[in-house]
Amino acid sequence: MSKAGRKMTAQKSRKQNLNQQMTARVLPLRSHNLQESVATIGYQYPGVTSGISIQGTYDYLKERLGGKGAGLVEMAKLKIPVPPAFNLSTSLCQLYLQRQNLPEPVIKQTRLALIGLEKFLKKRFGSTEHPLLISVRSGARISMPGMMDTILNLGLNREITQHLSKRFPDRARFWWDCYRRLIQMFSNVVLQVEHAQFERILQHWRTKEKVKADSDLSVSALQMICKEYENLVENADKKFPQDPWEQLLHAIEAVFRSWNTERAIHYRKLTNIPEDWGTSVTVQAMVFGNLNDKSATGVVFTRDPSTGERKLYGEYLINAQGEDVVAGIRTPRPIHQMKKELPEAASELVKALDRLEKHFNEVQDIEFTIENERLFILQTRTAKRSAQAALQNAFQFVQEKRLKKEAALERVSYDQVKQLLHPTLKATSEKPFVRGLPASPGACSGRVAFDPETALAFARAQQKVILVRQETSPEDIMGMSVSEGILTSTGGMTSHAAVVGRGMGKTCVVGCSELHVDEQNHRAEAFGITIEEGSLITLNGSTGDVYVGELPTEPVTWGDTARKFFQWTDEVASMPVLANADTPDQARLARELGAQGIGLCRTEHMFFDKERIRNFRRMILSESVEQREELAAELLAYQKSDFLQIFREMKDLSVCVRLLDPPLHEFLPKLDDQDEIKVLADSLRIPAGRLVQRIHQLHEVNPMLGHRGCRLGITFPEIYEMQVQALAESLFDLIREGKKVALKIMIPLVMSTEELSYLLRRLKNVFERSLSNADPTPEAQQLRKLRSLVKWGTMIELPRACVIGAEIARLVDFISFGTNDLTQTTLGISRDDATKFIPTYLDKQLFRKDPFETLDVQGVGKLIEWAVRESRAANATLEVGICGEHGGDPESIEFFRRIQFNNVSCSPFRVPIARLAAACAEQKQKNK
Ligand code: ADP
Ligand code: MG
Ligand code: MG
Repeated sequence: MSKAGRKMTAQKSRKQNLNQQMTARVLPLRSHNLQESVATIGYQYPGVTSGISIQGTYDYLKERLGGKGAGLVEMAKLKIPVPPAFNLSTSLCQLYLQRQNLPEPVIKQTRLALIGLEKFLKKRFGSTEHPLLISVRSGARISMPGMMDTILNLGLNREITQHLSKRFPDRARFWWDCYRRLIQMFSNVVLQVEHAQFERILQHWRTKEKVKADSDLSVSALQMICKEYENLVENADKKFPQDPWEQLLHAIEAVFRSWNTERAIHYRKLTNIPEDWGTSVTVQAMVFGNLNDKSATGVVFTRDPSTGERKLYGEYLINAQGEDVVAGIRTPRPIHQMKKELPEAASELVKALDRLEKHFNEVQDIEFTIENERLFILQTRTAKRSAQAALQNAFQFVQEKRLKKEAALERVSYDQVKQLLHPTLKATSEKPFVRGLPASPGACSGRVAFDPETALAFARAQQKVILVRQETSPEDIMGMSVSEGILTSTGGMTSHAAVVGRGMGKTCVVGCSELHVDEQNHRAEAFGITIEEGSLITLNGSTGDVYVGELPTEPVTWGDTARKFFQWTDEVASMPVLANADTPDQARLARELGAQGIGLCRTEHMFFDKERIRNFRRMILSESVEQREELAAELLAYQKSDFLQIFREMKDLSVCVRLLDPPLHEFLPKLDDQDEIKVLADSLRIPAGRLVQRIHQLHEVNPMLGHRGCRLGITFPEIYEMQVQALAESLFDLIREGKKVALKIMIPLVMSTEELSYLLRRLKNVFERSLSNADPTPEAQQLRKLRSLVKWGTMIELPRACVIGAEIARLVDFISFGTNDLTQTTLGISRDDATKFIPTYLDKQLFRKDPFETLDVQGVGKLIEWAVRESRAANATLEVGICGEHGGDPESIEFFRRIQFNNVSCSPFRVPIARLAAACAEQKQKNK
């Protein structure tokens, strides 16, 4: 083939690929068996598939008929009263959306199924004497409440309505009411005439007749309303079809189209529902809750969906239809009143609910209608409920012996675990003013501070603060710790603000790129709205929404049930969950949330206190070794007391301390901070100019790949030596107090065995020396014992360290993968800049997930697997752990369990999620 020809083919195939990708994403082609795409529910008819006869799991049934259709089939099997129906499968949705019309065989099947329904009910569609009325209902594989459309009372027209209201004058109100509802719904859903215009007419007549409820409107008013509705449609240049069959076809198509309404698409994005699932259509015989005062419609949960309490929870409206209950015009009655008003139907309902809950072995949320005291169930599904309720229910089901503990664990989602831990925003109709990334869940309101000092000042004045920054840095720690929440305009889910915010359990919204934060002038602006220092805003860290003003929140507590539930996870899991905790507060929280030790205690935060940072700065800026040693000795006292507090908090659980890691750069004073420069220069007894020069020297272009980690320990030996001495002395003190300790000392960012053995040799010496200094007459035995209490290890966070895993393993007792840096260095993506393009990568599906949130198993995971295999072969007792952000990510945890890590460590607030994930991973491993 010629070069040009090859190029053409390559281009063509790329184009084809792209086309395929596009269609694959929006509408993948599936194999259709058109003859079987319609199924009857609750009756049978020759030539049409019967829903009851469909073989396969309940999940398959839901995939094919949608959740609503599958639920109806299941109820029909259980002989629970449901109106008969037929269902057009979800796969037709794709087909229809592509073709923009329904294939002939499907129309034929629909016609057959409708004839069957007519025969079964002895009614005729379109007849003036015994008309069959139907609803046309949407329903995806999993429920997307209110996101798609449903039309009721199809099959009526003006002629039929007039005829029937004359023949049955006492039902005239009912027939006109149905017709009115039909015009309204049909015109809205199919013809796109605005709902509000109909409501206006209706409201006008309510006012005119001085009634509140539609059910109290007179027959003549309803007649007039229908006329005005018809005119409204006509004036909009639309046609309401009087032919029922035409109505049906249009309605089916409109329901398929409603899969792609803006709100449905938005909802799918938020809930990760695939675009290609599609909705089914269920065509169902109407039952009438609006027939008379012995009729009603309602919704009921088998247990309270907000608290989980074991009692029926729901409401109903007498003489009403469909959405009247949620429309809020009339106040519905609580379900327990039904016993008095409609006793027979009420007792039927209780029986049906009991059976449904038992059958599905899960709390149900059902929709029902009562027609003249006869109960019909129209829908059943697993109840959508609060995190609290999900937890309570899982617990109850185990106590009621309906569920094994292992299975109960799956009943609470990771998102729900998150919600359990944070206050949440009460439902609100307020519009967010900007939106960022939901970095750390929860909700909070507070006054805006644009720098940590102001945050502290507000906090001291007993005011709630939200720290708003372009991006936070370690220097902001104090400000962050006194704030309720943190908002940044740049940075992503693993930026400083996000990681630290999560660690502290602060509500945190980051990467809010539309917000222009002007730190100098202390204000922020977006979409023409300016936020000044001190103004109130509200963050929703679970969605990323930011609101102007203060919105109400709901607090949550970590109750007894939660504690017990999470004890089950520990019974199931074999891989313990540790926590990343740097302060006594975090350590306490970690223990409370069930961490079995500290897997990463960072020491850098210990230097950012105002007093200490000056000492630290003096130390790194000083040019004299003696001065440095002197200053190190001052810092020693601080370090020791920090360590002691944390150890005491953790009781006898293990604590892994990482020696100083961040780039030196981060500790340097800002050059424009004249005051600080002066103070420092004076105290170092050098001219300010000289100091500035030294700062320039230490300044780094690419700090994350620069002067940090163990490189610091090598260039500034005083730092690590001081830290090790502080650890040795703390250990000694604790032993003397009769406490148990299990200490691990960890060296960060190692790339070679030369580095590692150099440091280990020196630091172990310091450790021994410190011990003997602490007790000048040590017994050999005592020393040996103390020595055995400490384990030495390193972080594996560079590709080279993975590759030489075996050699490293021979030098240490444990290794811990620092997957944040390992991801950064393996992918060559700076995690602080990643937010500029990762969203695009996700959007274009070039990344399935953000590799800084969920471990890139294919790439980074391969390196880890290799390192684990090699290092275990070289050192059989080596302990292997992970302490990056991925330690709290369920999917990554599954991977770590699969390759038999000894532990995972994550921020305290993620510990419960990680415990649950470790238990679920264990089960998966077992079921293999
Ligand atoms: P959604 O998915 O929005 O809940 P549905 O298809 O469940 O939509 O319909 C909404 C409501 O319409 C139902 O709760 C029920 O009250 C009413 N409805 C639907 N089909 C029928 C029917 N065949 N008979 C009576 N009411 C119906
Ligand atoms: Mg419904
Ligand atoms: Mg690191």
